[in-house]
Amino acid sequence: MRIAVIGTGVVGLASAIRLRQDLNADVSVYFRDDLPSTTSSRAGAVFTPFDGGSNEPWIRESLARFRDLAQTTPTSGVSIGTAVEYLAPNQPLPRWPALVGDVHPLPPLEGTGAGFRVDVPFIDMTVYLPWLKAHAQALGVTFIQRTFTSLAELWSLPVDLIVNCAGLGARELVPDASVRPMRGQLLHVENTLNLREAIAAADLHGGVTYIYPFRTHVVLGGTYEPDISLCQTDPATIEHILARCKALLRAAGHPDWQRLGERPIRTVAGLRPARIIDNRCETVRLELEPEPPTAPSAPTIIHNYGHGRAGVTLSWGTAANVLELVRTL
Ligand SMILES: Cc1cc2nc3c(=O)[nH]c(=O)nc-3n(C[C@H](O)[C@H](O)[C@H](O)COP(=O)(O)OP(=O)(O)OC[C@H]3O[C@@H](n4cnc5c(N)ncnc54)[C@H](O)[C@@H]3O)c2cc1C
Repeated sequence: MRIAVIGTGVVGLASAIRLRQDLNADVSVYFRDDLPSTTSSRAGAVFTPFDGGSNEPWIRESLARFRDLAQTTPTSGVSIGTAVEYLAPNQPLPRWPALVGDVHPLPPLEGTGAGFRVDVPFIDMTVYLPWLKAHAQALGVTFIQRTFTSLAELWSLPVDLIVNCAGLGARELVPDASVRPMRGQLLHVENTLNLREAIAAADLHGGVTYIYPFRTHVVLGGTYEPDISLCQTDPATIEHILARCKALLRAAGHPDWQRLGERPIRTVAGLRPARIIDNRCETVRLELEPEPPTAPSAPTIIHNYGHGRAGVTLSWGTAANVLELVRTL
């Protein structure tokens, strides 16, 4: 079977790998932007599911994959670490932590609601994405730079199946107006405090605040800015993020909170592919294209886009779902 995957983000790469590994298919990945210019290259990333929709089987599947990578392939940039999350005042405990592991409740900090501690995968995107692409290449997946402008153009590809993992690009390509940019800004700093635990607060001084430590750097975030399509950081916002992260570390009782960010590395902005339906930002579209193709011999299209704030987290789960769909054809 010849398969074209559109997109070399984390969703496209995971799908291409599963299709190649499980079906022994001839898989080519087409892309407009390559690493490190994709949204995926700009992600945090810590395993951060959101409740609702059809997410639960995807969460379980992805979790199993990431745990396996952490155990068998440390060079992938995946490890298991402890994450501490504080909810907004009066926010109920979400369902997802109980799906992921043993949840230890925590009392509120100054300015937050109650919290919890749970072990989750930490995914160092500076290592993981180059590893993932090299892994796909080693399995025999080929990569071709080409931009598509319509489904008709996709249908003219000489393949049996197309898996559309164009992320935000699906807005114009499909077209699908429910896919909207949601800008995220963050800051990488050196891990001079030797931080080990991820810590996040859902609403601290007016924003979601998170500190994700990795071996060489710490990711400080963040922002969720709907309908902002300017992929640039704003110095005042970055300053505010750093101030919020310091406040969080201080509230958590770290003695050297003032030193956080003393050695900045880079600032990062990315546009999440939010597919917003009924106020849910991660309404992933995972289904066969219902429109009849331009010719009877045209390839079948499976859509796999709209992962919003959780594309890294859900990538292996939705890839497994793509595989299930292919097996029904
Ligand atoms: C600051 C920030 C922090 C984040 N942190 C986390 C986190 O901690 N955990 C988490 O799970 N998620 C996180 N995310 C979200 C995550 O990054 C996204 O959900 C995920 O990267 C989406 O992946 P994707 O493969 O769908 O899209 P992308 O990475 O954008 O890839 C899309 C691909 O499709 C290609 N493409 C698009 N249109 C076309 C076209 N017309 N023709 C050909 N190719 C096309 C693009 O060139 C690209 O290769 C974060 C995002 C940001 C911005």
